[in-house]
Amino acid sequence: MSSRIFLSAPDVGQVEQEAVLAAMQSGWIAPLGPDVDAFEAEMAARVGVAHGVALSSGTAALHLGLLALGVGVGDLVLTSTMTFAATANAITYTGAQPVFVDSDPTTGNIDVVLLEEALANLAAAGTPARAIVPVDLLGKAVDYTVIEELAARHEVPVLADAAESLGATHRGRAAGSFGAASIVSFNGNKIMTTSGGGMLLTDDRAIADRVRYLSTQARQPVVHYEHTEVGFNYRLSNLLAALGRAQLRRLDDMISRRRDHRERYRALFAQVPGVTLLGGHEDVEDNCWLTAVLIDPDIAGFSAADLRHALDGDNIESRPLWKPMHRQPAFDGTRRFITGASDQLFRIGVVLPSGSVLDDSETNRVVAQIEEFTGSQR
Ligand SMILES: *Cc1c(COP(=O)(O)O)cnc(C)c1O
Repeated sequence: MSSRIFLSAPDVGQVEQEAVLAAMQSGWIAPLGPDVDAFEAEMAARVGVAHGVALSSGTAALHLGLLALGVGVGDLVLTSTMTFAATANAITYTGAQPVFVDSDPTTGNIDVVLLEEALANLAAAGTPARAIVPVDLLGKAVDYTVIEELAARHEVPVLADAAESLGATHRGRAAGSFGAASIVSFNGNKIMTTSGGGMLLTDDRAIADRVRYLSTQARQPVVHYEHTEVGFNYRLSNLLAALGRAQLRRLDDMISRRRDHRERYRALFAQVPGVTLLGGHEDVEDNCWLTAVLIDPDIAGFSAADLRHALDGDNIESRPLWKPMHRQPAFDGTRRFITGASDQLFRIGVVLPSGSVLDDSETNRVVAQIEEFTGSQR
C-alpha cells in the first residue's frame, strides 16, 4: 500500500529543529522566556494589533478571551454552528451557553442575515447575547464589516475565532485583528504550528492583561502566591514559542504552497460538472488552509462519500466538513437559528489534502486518483 497522504500534516524541518534546540540550550525551558515575549510581539506585529498573549491552545485562548469579555454563568453567546467543537466547548467552560447560527451556503461562514435576526430575537426575549464568536471557516474570513456593524449596533462584543485563518485578510485587513479580541491556534494541523498552542490578539491592553493574569493561575504580584480569584495554567512553553517563531518566518511560503494546491484543485474540478469549491471563486483573501469541494450528486453522478471512498482506496485522507454543532449530542437542547445550509454542506462537502508539506509527487498522486475516479463516473 502507498504511504498515507494526510489532510494537513505539520510542516517542520531543519529551521524549526534549530530554533527549538537553541531555545533549549538557552536554559529557558519554562512557560516564560525571551522566545515567548518575542513570539507575542512578532505575531501581534504580523496581524497589526498591539498585544498578543501566547497560550497553551486556541481553546484556552477562546476560554480566557470570553472570560475577559465578562462572559459567565447563564449568558448566551452567538456562534457559528459550522465549526470545530472547541469554539462551543470554550463557551460552555465559562458557564454560558452557545447559541448556534447557520451558515452562508457559499462559504460555510456564519449567515450574517440570520445573525442579525438572532441578535434581535434574543434581545426581544429579554436574554440578549453577551458576545458573538464568529469563525473563519477553513481560512476564509467572515464578513467582519457587517458583523462589527451589527455588534456595535447591538452593543455586543466580538471575540473572533481566527484559529483557521491566520494569514487571511478581510478587505485588506488581517484576520486576527478584528473584534474586541481574536484568537489563533497553533495546533499540529493548522497553517502554522507550535505542536500545540494558541494566542489571543487584541488592541485592548485591559483584555491582554486580564488574559495573561488568568493564564498564570491568577497570581497577585507578591512573593507569597496570593490568589483572590481562581486562575488557569494556560501559558505557552518557551520551547514551543521558539518553534512558533521559526514557523512564522515561513508562514508566507507555507500559505503560497497551500494556494498552489487550491489552484490545482480548481483547475481539476473545473472539468467536472456538479463539483464546486467551497468559498466560491473569490479566494485572494483566503489563507487556503484547507480546500474543500461541494458535490451535487444529481449533476456529478457521484456523492461526497463516493469521492472519499475513492481517495481512501489509495490511502489518501479526506474528511467531511465539520459536523454542525447543532447536530452534536453534546449540545442537545441549546438554542439555535437554523436554515439547513450547514446540514447540506455537511452532506455534500469533502475536505481534500491541503498541507504545505505535501510534495509534488504526493499532490500528483491525489490528482491522479481523483482524475481516475471522476473519469470512471462519466
Ligand atoms: C483548531 C480550532 C480551534 C482550537 O484550537 P486548539 O489550538 O486546537 O485548541 C478552535 N476553533 C477552530 C475553528 C479551530 O479550527
